[in-house]
Amino acid sequence: MPAVILTDIRTARERIANKIERTPTVLSHSLSECCGVSVHLKLEHRQTTGSFKLRGASNAVASLSAEQKARGVVAASTGNHGRALAHAAKLEGMRAVICMSRLVPGNKLDEIRRLGAEVRIVGDSQDDAQQEVDRLVAQERLVMLPPFDHPDIIAGQGTLGLEMIEQVPDAALVLVQLSGGGLASGVAAAIKGVSPRTKVIGVSMARGAAMKASLDAGQPVLVEELPTLADSLGGGIGLDNRLTFAMCRDLLDDVVLLSEDEIAAGIRHAYAQEREIVEGAGAVGIAALLAGKITANGPVVVLLSGRNIDMELHRKIVCGDTSINAGRAG
Ligand SMILES: *Cc1c(COP(=O)(O)O)cnc(C)c1O
Repeated sequence: MPAVILTDIRTARERIANKIERTPTVLSHSLSECCGVSVHLKLEHRQTTGSFKLRGASNAVASLSAEQKARGVVAASTGNHGRALAHAAKLEGMRAVICMSRLVPGNKLDEIRRLGAEVRIVGDSQDDAQQEVDRLVAQERLVMLPPFDHPDIIAGQGTLGLEMIEQVPDAALVLVQLSGGGLASGVAAAIKGVSPRTKVIGVSMARGAAMKASLDAGQPVLVEELPTLADSLGGGIGLDNRLTFAMCRDLLDDVVLLSEDEIAAGIRHAYAQEREIVEGAGAVGIAALLAGKITANGPVVVLLSGRNIDMELHRKIVCGDTSINAGRAG
């Protein structure tokens, strides 16, 4: 049995109901036309803090004891988990410290500071940031709330899966972003729990797809972290991964990888055809459909997971500036 199941996700939903938005799902006429099946977009990039990460962070914070809340929380983040945790901690009047690598875009740092969290920039990878987290847990007794490999985080992200299958009950296929796998684990557990025949496919960028490499190897492996337009999907899954590797292995039907150009095309399509501003990670589901990498024989639900993109970068991408290189993504 997976580490997080439908009942955990239903409990999480009640716990966070008054802390998050229930985001809409809308039909995409342009994608439906191009794919020959109905394609629905789950507009979770409109969630408070600009990504779904508020679901997991709110659930994890709500599950802390009074004593843990008094100590405060610490996390490594590619940006969106940090922002969500900063927001959830602020509502509770708690201390929050967010550790990030130099790859995290400046717009994400500014928002986290604005919410009153302490920011530490360490090294060039999520692994470097994690070392600072470990130090703060040991020396300052902060409570670590990791971005994905934690049952309360996974259950919180899973609430998104419940909404998607309620909004499109006959979904044949759900496309979900895949990085550390907290999102994909929770969403797949919810979807398969309610509708076992619905397929769930994970989508990642080809540059540094740690979960895909780990699934292929049959165990968690290290993958070099590279700059990518889908910066929120960067980082490894942890060699000591406890939950998300097994859940993704057991619950996902497939994993699809995308080039940087394909991701840029997804951002452009979201803006020009759907009138939605999404970050690179948020656009990968659309990008996978546009790239012809998905076959579906029934309704598809595509998750738009976040919108926290630097607006100057967004402008260049939608104007078709071909000099964009992911290394300068922020
Ligand atoms: C964190 C994040 C993801 C990936 O979630 P994981 O649980 O790490 O797989 C996808 N999209 C956005 C916008 C994110 O912030």
